[in-house]
Amino acid sequence: MSLKEKGGEIMIKCKICGGEFVVLKKHLKIKHDMTTSQYKKLFPDAEIYSNSYLKRKRAIAKRQKENGNLKNFKKGFSGVNE
Ligand SMILES: [Zn+2]
Repeated sequence: MSLKEKGGEIMIKCKICGGEFVVLKKHLKIKHDMTTSQYKKLFPDAEIYSNSYLKRKRAIAKRQKENGNLKNFKKGFSGVNE
């Protein structure tokens, strides 16, 4: 698999048209009118999200969780929705 880095972002390749993207989900829907599960069925080993995107998402989620905990802590843990 050929991975290209673009501005620190590792791109993944669309196996249908060969275009390179950080996230394929939107591209699949717009260009190929296909859901990620349909794509996965055609290409089981294909990636939908680039590693750098997932890493960033995880970092954001972690930060949000920490902020959320802090807010809840300040509120005395009221309104915690799971
Ligand atoms: Zn494509």
